Amino acid sequence: MDLLEYQGKQFFARFGLPVSPGLVADRSSGAVAIAERLGFPVVVKAQVHVGGRGKAGGIRPARNAEEVAEATESILGMDIGGHSVKCVLVEEAAEIAAEYYAGFTLDRSARRYLGILSARGGVDIEGVAESDPDAIAKTWIDPVEGLDEAGARSWVRAARLDEGAADELVEVLIKLYGAFVEGDADLVEINPLILTPDGRVRVLDAKVTLDGNSRFRHPGYGEYDATQPRDVRERAAHARGLQYVGLEGTVGVIANGAGLAMSTVDVVAQAGGSAANFLDIGGGADVDTMAGALEVINNDPAVRAIFINIFGGIVKGEVVAQGILDALDRVEMRSPIVLRLDGTNATEGRAMIESRLSDMLILADSMPAGAARAVELAGAAS
Ligand code: GDP
Ligand code: MN
Repeated sequence: MDLLEYQGKQFFARFGLPVSPGLVADRSSGAVAIAERLGFPVVVKAQVHVGGRGKAGGIRPARNAEEVAEATESILGMDIGGHSVKCVLVEEAAEIAAEYYAGFTLDRSARRYLGILSARGGVDIEGVAESDPDAIAKTWIDPVEGLDEAGARSWVRAARLDEGAADELVEVLIKLYGAFVEGDADLVEINPLILTPDGRVRVLDAKVTLDGNSRFRHPGYGEYDATQPRDVRERAAHARGLQYVGLEGTVGVIANGAGLAMSTVDVVAQAGGSAANFLDIGGGADVDTMAGALEVINNDPAVRAIFINIFGGIVKGEVVAQGILDALDRVEMRSPIVLRLDGTNATEGRAMIESRLSDMLILADSMPAGAARAVELAGAAS
């Protein structure tokens, strides 16, 4: 689960990290009201799940109500990296003396947490890692031992951050580590972590990815569902209870079972095409599931052909066939369907389809043959 900046800052604040006061608004009148309560100057910040907002014009300072209204109106609806801005964070502006970078993530191969700290924050950290690797201080933390004060202090020294602010920086890093571990995050990142002219440390940006598998420990994480950056296809599919992942290709894929669905994506690639999605309709492929799956794929404008790949195990061939036939009565398909049906009662299932075969519904003898046919049809259609 990826949090928006304001959610990340609320998350950080719960762990005692110093964030600036601020609130979100989805229209300029609301933004102005927030700014007037905070006092000027403020910063108006686009809330989207991508970085680089500053460069895109999505971060604007404002000294009075008119500037807040103007900034908010120009930022709302803006497209930043393919994400449209639906709300802004209005925050008390901070004065910046130095911009640092601080973050924690998992280093799976080292079986440790990895902390990254740099005196060159505020810019794209991957770029710094390439052009000036010495400016980045990494520390690997044993999850059992954790990060203690001495460890944090020598890390701050290694990163050559301001000595005068060392005490506060150590405190912030330990709190950030606490948020990372206790909050079950996969990634926490502050870029920039700033030093103000009077020597205080502040969190100016927040990037947080939470581990979705930890939700049973954090009932409050349910609130993040509504703002997850899913594409419209994924939203529609998940609303129907389907296991769906959107991909970039033109062959819509439906299979029963996650393993078969993944192999289907692979055979489509092997046949020279590319899948538009991964979709597992699960073991009990009933009529509603099949109709829902066909609907979701049919609504994907990139899809040129559909490959339904079913190997009946618990699910019987007749049930699959009936599901497809009923679904075809309910959904008017834009693209041809290639069906491969094997396994339990496949012969019965195929017999049921027989009378409905056409240019829009084609039976394939095998999985590779079905993939090849679907790829060919997708190519012919484009
Ligand atoms: P990003 O571009 O998406 O990473 O957005 P950030 O929240 O990191 O903001 C980008 C840049 O805007 C920061 O590196 C700062 O230089 C600047 N900025 C953001 N908030 C403030 C603020 O309160 N005061 C000042 N002076 N600059 C800010
Ligand atoms: Mn940033």
